[in-house]
Amino acid sequence: MKNNMLFKVFLSMALALAAGVLTGPKATILGILYVDIFGFIGQLFLNALTLVVVPLVAASIITGTAKMSGDHSFGSLGAKTFSLFIGTVTAAVIIGWIVAMMISPGQFLDAGMEPLGQGVQQAVIDLDEKGAFSTLQAIFFKLIPSNILAVASQGQMLGLIFFTLLFGFFLPKIEKGPGEIVLGFWKGLFQVMMCMTHVVMQALPYGVFGLVAKVVATTGTEAIKSIGAFFGTVLVGLAVYSFLFLPVLLSFVGRVNPLRHFKAMGPALLAAFSTSSSAATLPITIECVEKRAGVSNRITSFTLPLATTLNLSGTALYVCVASFFICQAYGVELTFGLQMLVIIMSVLTSFGMAGIPSASLVAIVMILNSAGLPGDGVALILAVERILDMFRTVVNVLGNTCSAVIVARSEGERHVLSH
Ligand code: ASP
Repeated sequence: MKNNMLFKVFLSMALALAAGVLTGPKATILGILYVDIFGFIGQLFLNALTLVVVPLVAASIITGTAKMSGDHSFGSLGAKTFSLFIGTVTAAVIIGWIVAMMISPGQFLDAGMEPLGQGVQQAVIDLDEKGAFSTLQAIFFKLIPSNILAVASQGQMLGLIFFTLLFGFFLPKIEKGPGEIVLGFWKGLFQVMMCMTHVVMQALPYGVFGLVAKVVATTGTEAIKSIGAFFGTVLVGLAVYSFLFLPVLLSFVGRVNPLRHFKAMGPALLAAFSTSSSAATLPITIECVEKRAGVSNRITSFTLPLATTLNLSGTALYVCVASFFICQAYGVELTFGLQMLVIIMSVLTSFGMAGIPSASLVAIVMILNSAGLPGDGVALILAVERILDMFRTVVNVLGNTCSAVIVARSEGERHVLSH
């Protein structure tokens, strides 16, 4: 994709902003709400992208794993990738924890929340173990589901990934004849999905227009004002992670120029911003990391689909800040134990979360419950949920691309981002 496309996407964002502000939620044309027209264009684009995701993830992981299992690099590459995921998600949560404690956005909320009684505070201690256990249990049930077809039809990535990893791992171990036929099928499927992605990408500026105009037309600025401190805290955390932590990681561990990386990832980041879904953006992310950064298909086909479910660092940071914010707003005393609980749960719940819009909300409710707070505390942040989703999804995708580039460099791919 040429930079010309980036220009078009920026232009369509500016137009979407103007169109959203001018029409608002109620204006109509020929009796049809403008907002419905924007929504229609955006949803068509989102559907087209999401359409290729399940076959793409399956084909990509099977071919990637089969290659590695065949040349015995599966163990080392897998270990490297997973350690990077755990390291970056933990760093994101720690950054979220620090900014939430320093800024303490909950104290600016003058909605007069009732402080919680002694009984609820006690529940924090009682529920610690149960909360962490039930979260772990839910992750394992998603990881090992009972029906792969049901999983694929519902787009549940964690189960799909586990099954396809196993499939790819054993593929080179069966008889050569059938093995090659089956592998050829998955390779062909992958290539067809990428061709389809390429076509869908031509519609990126139109899709972005529809999606962004709808958000602008339906979200009032009042909402942002009322919980501006929370909004700002999340943005500060995401900015520290993206413009400080990730560039340092890229420079010192990956030994690549962060600016060059950011520029190369432009289309994927803009798609993430407008779709609020790292899963829907995955085809574009693969295209950018392969074509614009020069990472081999061996690395992208393994790391990127996995990252979309296991490396949602922007989400983990957000979940952490939001949970602290709600605790602060309810006047809950943030003991060291409770802080650790929120941190661990933020890391855990981000693993295996679907890269779809507003997936974080479920995680926040789980954390609040395990902290003995009513899950409906989540209502406090709903007003700015849609907009913050756009920003954290960009950070999720950015983190995923950084992981792919760092793994590629560690595997000796010297040409990555060298042009
Ligand atoms: N929308 C995010 C994503 O797709 C997930 C979330 O934080 O809700 O990456």
